Amino acid sequence: MSSETSTEQPASFTAGHFFVLLSMISATAAVVVSKHTHPVALLLISAAALAAGYTAYALHRALMGLSSGEGEEEPLGVRQREILEQEKTLVLRAIKDLEFDYGMKKVSEGDYADMLERLRGRALLLMQQLERAPVPKPEAKRPAKKPKAVVGVCTRCGTRNEADARFCKQCGDRLGSVNT
Ligand SMILES: [Zn+2]
Repeated sequence: MSSETSTEQPASFTAGHFFVLLSMISATAAVVVSKHTHPVALLLISAAALAAGYTAYALHRALMGLSSGEGEEEPLGVRQREILEQEKTLVLRAIKDLEFDYGMKKVSEGDYADMLERLRGRALLLMQQLERAPVPKPEAKRPAKKPKAVVGVCTRCGTRNEADARFCKQCGDRLGSVNT
């Protein structure tokens, strides 16, 4: 009885890596399983698997964050929307590609109908998820960055004037930074 096995890993570490690993495995598995499918569909499936894994991971992190009280991470809503928007773009592009390939007779009619149905279902689901996803606050997303008015520099055309000039020598606009 000399073994010391009291070193316990924090649960968040293990679970976090588990989610990342899971998403990677499912992405790979998706590609391997559906070898015969159209490349666009493959891309889509692996992207979907990755996104699902990441969302699960982010959600887990957010839940862990609630209990530990460390709130330096980006709000979940912002990240989640980003992923959903990305995937929506991907799905819509895939539909276009598929229609193009079908037009070029690169895809059989059966494959085309099957994939189109799946892609449309996926797009619909994503749009529903986007509707339900929490909308991030606009203040948090863009910091109000006001261009600093430099004395003598025209805010309209950018011409550098004399420091005491009231009007721009280039465009004649009133120089705003001069107080009278
Ligand atoms: Zn000017």
